[in-house]
Amino acid sequence: MPKIGVHLSSLDLNEIVNKATYLGCETIQIFTRNPKSWAGPPNHSKNDIKKFKKSLKERNISPSAIHASYLPNLASPDSYLLEKSINNIISELKCGDILGAEFVVIHPGSHKGQGSEIGVRNIIGSINVIFSFIKNPVLLLLETTAAEGNEIGTIDEIAKIIRGCDEKERLGICFDTCHIFAAGCDIVNNLDGVLEEFDKKIGLSKIKLIHLNDSKYECGSKRDRHLHIGDGFIGEEGFERILNCPFFSDIPAILETPKKDDWDDVKNIGMVRKLLKN
Ligand SMILES: [Zn+2]
Repeated sequence: MPKIGVHLSSLDLNEIVNKATYLGCETIQIFTRNPKSWAGPPNHSKNDIKKFKKSLKERNISPSAIHASYLPNLASPDSYLLEKSINNIISELKCGDILGAEFVVIHPGSHKGQGSEIGVRNIIGSINVIFSFIKNPVLLLLETTAAEGNEIGTIDEIAKIIRGCDEKERLGICFDTCHIFAAGCDIVNNLDGVLEEFDKKIGLSKIKLIHLNDSKYECGSKRDRHLHIGDGFIGEEGFERILNCPFFSDIPAILETPKKDDWDDVKNIGMVRKLLKN
């Protein structure tokens, strides 16, 4: 059975632990900084960090993942923005190590009209630079995207990125159910076929994390809009299949479903647990 958790947006370490505990999370995903700003992380005291790691351990909440902020673009054609993006991800990996996280999740990038090939090449170059500057055990996970607009992140593009990087062992994949479905992979009617394609092109062992999101739009829509589990085109039946698929049983799963308040998380976790039991 996969470990289930939610994305928690708070930057207060104490609040993260309290919410994760209250929601019954077995794993978590967090931001280390304001995701809509280039500002660095808040200054946590050594004592707060120690307490945070200890509390997660005591509550068996593991692994923890960091979701990078929304601004960095490792495919950017603008050298100023590219350097900023590279520094940002280096900082996220440092934070990951300090906070005891196993993963930093990034969206691969946007080619901004240069085309997929150049975008992929830029991302490979950026990741090679990042890994040459920072050495630590935190894995960098490339998230599958809905391939909306100029966004890079289809199975083929992620396969090319991993193939092109020097330190492949430091890379993994975050499998986002909404994104992969919107990108055109029919995980509702052909989950085995999608996993087979993944295995052939990348290797299933690279999938380290799942994002559980229902999709507001149909398969192949290339539109990235998350919905509560069961409310979208993946639906309860689709999630029942995904959650009980033997391949996913050891992979931690994080809900990134929309929330007005904590009750939405409670509701979605409840739905996932209900579908897992069947
Ligand atoms: Zn996601």
